[in-house]
This record gives sequence, structure tokens and C-alpha cells, in this order.
Amino acid sequence: MSKINLGIIGGGQLGSMLSVAAKKLNIKTTIFCDDINAPAQNFCDEFISGDYNDNKKILEFVKKVNVITYEFENIPYETLNEMNKLVSVLPKPSVNRLIQHRLAEKDFINKLNIRTTRYVSIEKKTDLDTLEDFLPGILKTTTMGYDGKGQYPIQKIEDIETMNVDFSKEYILEKLVKLKKEISVVLTRFGINNFQVYEPIENTHQNQILKHSKIPADVSKKISEQAKEWATRIAEELKYIGTLCVEFFIDRNENLYVNEIAPRVHNSGHLTINAYNISQFENHVRAVCSLEKVPLKKLSNAEMINLIGNQIEPYRQNLNLKENEFFFDYLKKEIKEKRKMGHITTLI
Ligand code: ADP
Ligand code: MG
Repeated sequence: MSKINLGIIGGGQLGSMLSVAAKKLNIKTTIFCDDINAPAQNFCDEFISGDYNDNKKILEFVKKVNVITYEFENIPYETLNEMNKLVSVLPKPSVNRLIQHRLAEKDFINKLNIRTTRYVSIEKKTDLDTLEDFLPGILKTTTMGYDGKGQYPIQKIEDIETMNVDFSKEYILEKLVKLKKEISVVLTRFGINNFQVYEPIENTHQNQILKHSKIPADVSKKISEQAKEWATRIAEELKYIGTLCVEFFIDRNENLYVNEIAPRVHNSGHLTINAYNISQFENHVRAVCSLEKVPLKKLSNAEMINLIGNQIEPYRQNLNLKENEFFFDYLKKEIKEKRKMGHITTLI
């Protein structure tokens, strides 16, 4: 049999790590990305750059691959849908459409009787006038947000006047949760009630960007079980195939809330590369390529630190790693403030 060729849309670090995992499984990868400098081209077998609406490029990509997946959620639904007519896209395009829209995503989670933060749809500026009840809160664009982009913290209604919010876009206003902790659950669903669930990961953010993740998470058994049960239920309900991450808030009264779902491998799961026998990336490739599910074994506790912006520089210059430290350089051409450049995982 000829080698499987896995198509990946998106060429950032997640695409790179998926490619590395695929190679280990003797699977070829072809990456399609709208950024000609996408770092994942250093790791995949073939790279196609083109706009996500460019039909010619889409066809060129689709013709090469046996199955398609994606490393980020903000891909036009039409693109995924068109590709899916020719080669199967996993997770299904409808999952992506739901989750890339914050309002639809939160409505879906609430329908499952799973708690989210309180939220309300904002279609125009004056919608905010009567919403004191949701303050302090965060105004978030319904689409295209990541790493805190498109988010505006609001203490009082007047704050909005001094912010440069583009009200031609749709938003939701979310009540601020008094956070005690944030955790995430990464899991891989292979089919009906067929899962591998990684243990909950404790996450710390700086300026709304993930900075630090660790296992075990310092949470009660009850919270840990509840988070795993909710994440599993969400994936089952979506008939999801592949790796998914659910981000949670825990408030000061020990209430658990789903913050958001990532229909993809996730930054908080990077430590699974070194802390488990099978990483979130390998499991994703296994699930979308219909390979066998291997029993999951935790090898070690671990922590991960994201290297953001110029924090990567000392590591690039002087690599003095201890035996239990693993450094990942995403090989991004340009260092930018707030850009995730690499990470370090330490087994502990
Ligand atoms: P992104 O899509 O950019 O990851 P999130 O909605 O996950 O956006 O927000 C990023 C981070 O901002 C969260 O992990 C959390 O630290 C903080 N945050 C977002 N919404 C809230 C909220 N309603 N209450 C408290 N903190 C929040
Ligand atoms: Mg988030």
C-alpha cells in the first residue's frame, strides 16, 4: 500500500508538531497555508501556499492527500466544505463552523447543560447600554479571536468610549469570572464512545496568552472528574474525530465553567509529547487516519513554559539543557512581541 498523505491546513507550530508525529507513523504530510513563510514547511513533506479561498490551490492540495485536517479553527467554512466533497475533512467541517463562532459555541455548550460564563450577544454599540449586570466583563469578537486578540476588558460602560472597538463586527459580552484557576482537558476521540483522555492540565496565562502549563493540575478529584466528563460529553455530542481541547475556568467558589473549545491540538497539550507514550499530536494523526488506538500511558509529571517574543533568544544562543528539559524552537523567521516562538517542557 502506498503511504497515506495527510493534508493539514495551517502552517504554524501545531502543523509542525502534527507533521513530526505523522512522520513517526510513516505518514506523509502536505501543508496548505496562506502564509508563505509558514514555519511548518520545515517539518512537512510538501508545502503549498495559497489563499484559503483560492480554488486552484485548494484543488492542487486536495488532489495530493488522502485525508484532511486543520491546525486552527479560523478557516472559511466554505473551503472546508468544498474540500470535504472530494476528500474527507476531519474533524467534520460542521464542527469547525460551530466552534469558530463564540456565540454558537456557547449556545451549544449550554444546551448540553454544561456551565459557561454568562454571556450576551452584542450586535451594535447601543446593545451595551443596558448590560451593567454583565460588568465587569470582556467584550470578545464572535469570530477570528485567538491569544486574547479581539478582546476588550470593560469595567464600566463608559470604558467603551476610549477603546477603538470596530462595531461593524459581532461581539459577545462575557461576565468576568473571578478566577481561581484555569485548566484544560485534551482528549482524542476515535469513534463512538471511543476515547483517550489526558489528565487535566493546569494553565497560567499572561496578558491572555498561555504562559505555563503543568500536570498534575492542583484541583480536587471532583473538579477533575467533572472536567473530563464534560469534555468527553462535548466531543461525543459533536461526533468528533481527532484531538480536541476544552478550556475551563474554576472560580473562587470552586465552580467549574467551560471557557472555550478548541477543535484541534492545543498549546496546553504540548507537554504530552514528553509526558506520555503517545502525544496529543500522534493521537490526532492516528484518529484522523483511522490507525489503531494504542493504550495511553503517562510517563511523568511535567511542566511547559511558552517562549513568547524575544524570550526565545537566550535559548537559541546558549542551549544548556538538563536531561529532563526539552526545548522546541518553532523556527519562525521573525520574532514578534506576543508571538509564540517556542516552548520548554520539563519532566518533574
Ligand atoms: P482566546 O480565544 O484568545 O484563547 P479566551 O476566551 O480563551 O480567548 O480568553 C483568553 C484568556 O483570557 C482566558 O484563558 C482567561 O485567562 C482570560 N479570560 C477570558 N474570558 C474571561 C472571563 N470571562 N473571565 C475571566 N477571565 C477570562
Ligand atoms: Mg482560549
